[in-house]
Amino acid sequence: MQISLPEHVTEIIERLEDAGYEAYAVGGCVRDCCLGRTPKDWDITTSAKPMQIKSIFKKTFDTGIEHGTVTVVLGGLGYEVTTYRIDGIYKDSRHPESVSFTSNLTEDLKRRDFTINAMAYNKKAGLVDVFGGRGDLEKGIIRCVGNAQERFSEDALRMLRAVRFSAQLGFEIEKETAEAIRALSATLKNISAERIQTEIVKLITSDHPEKMADVYKLGLSRVFLPEFDVMMEAEQINPHHIYTVGMHTIKVMENVPPERELRLSALFHDVAKPKCTTLDENGINHFKGHPKEGAKMTKTILKRLKFDNHTIDRVCHFVLWHDANPELTPKSVRRLVSKIGRDYYPEMFALKRADVKGQNPVFADEKLRRIDEYEKLYNEIISAGECIDIKSLKVNGSDLIKEGFEEGAVIGSCLKELLHLVIEDPELNERETLLTIAREQFLERN
Ligand code: ATP
Ligand code: MG
Repeated sequence: MQISLPEHVTEIIERLEDAGYEAYAVGGCVRDCCLGRTPKDWDITTSAKPMQIKSIFKKTFDTGIEHGTVTVVLGGLGYEVTTYRIDGIYKDSRHPESVSFTSNLTEDLKRRDFTINAMAYNKKAGLVDVFGGRGDLEKGIIRCVGNAQERFSEDALRMLRAVRFSAQLGFEIEKETAEAIRALSATLKNISAERIQTEIVKLITSDHPEKMADVYKLGLSRVFLPEFDVMMEAEQINPHHIYTVGMHTIKVMENVPPERELRLSALFHDVAKPKCTTLDENGINHFKGHPKEGAKMTKTILKRLKFDNHTIDRVCHFVLWHDANPELTPKSVRRLVSKIGRDYYPEMFALKRADVKGQNPVFADEKLRRIDEYEKLYNEIISAGECIDIKSLKVNGSDLIKEGFEEGAVIGSCLKELLHLVIEDPELNERETLLTIAREQFLERN
């Protein structure tokens, strides 16, 4: 097994070796190289202590010096160099009480979560694979290093990481590892929302968002996203649907591009369906009001998971509008796009198409045709440069002030009214026309 290390990584390893220490590329980068994937970043593990690492390289940062990690900067890029380490006892399924340094590479590999993440490589020694990571990569399985129950008791986040790696790699979780997750899933409650957020985002933006079903089956979503359990258990008795809300949601995630906002919007677009379900006299379910209630629930959930406000606002907006359909006329499309906002297009089309693809295929062609027409009208509006927001009006606030408007709220409401008129009739978007309307309807009226 030969891995071609980047120049800087080779340089770091060789300089540590020249100073009398051992050093290896380790963890995710070795795993990715074995798979023929390009690593995102390169981590290095070494027998050198942090102070010794710092004395060898000109530019370094103390990233987590108490845990042995120093970032070495070469050519403007940072490489994490960590001293061989043994993690102490974990008290609360979260933090090791202490870490101690070791001069034995195997001890460092032993503390790592999964066999596929516990391999090291350098040119001299080749691949160091003490726990059968290579074989597990070939078999396509996620397996704990050592005893799974013990490893998950040390750090409960590893349970969610197991499903995350299985989603990124398309792997199965090995039987004992999966059983340990089932047994210990409730201890995920000890893990911070921030750490859970990181893993769940990686999972749903992977090639296998359908592994969310495993997050449910293994008892993990119950801890941090019980709303998803409710979705997985909610039937939809309606001719348009063939799946539970949860399985439909998974289909929608699979059918949108692997972008963070879109996958999150897909995950939550129907979150309120179970709550909004009614049964009519013919035994058919309806879900009236679910987008609005869904946007509210999504906000609560994303806040709880400590997402940033920008993401929360955008995802909630996608949820709120995912089900809105204009009449297929230029005017209706202008109205709706203006109401929803340009910034949500063309992504909104991707979400709507995916939503249809997760429904009864009998009606799919007709629904997709309508979305195509909606998008065609949208594209015509955009390429004609038609105005659908205040900033594309041919007049602005200072024009109105020059006309004698007083500064303040009246300007905003006048511009809004002008936009409304222009959306009804794009030909009105001419400077003189708009100024005349503004004078006649606003100045003379107020
Ligand atoms: P990614 O591609 O997402 O960066 P990665 O394998 O590099 O994947 P990181 O979270 O960056 O994952 O961790 C780097 C390495 O550190 C892992 O490959 C693993 O060896 C080890 N590791 C990380 N988190 C844990 C943990 N909670 N318990 C044990 N080992 C861990
Ligand atoms: Mg990494």
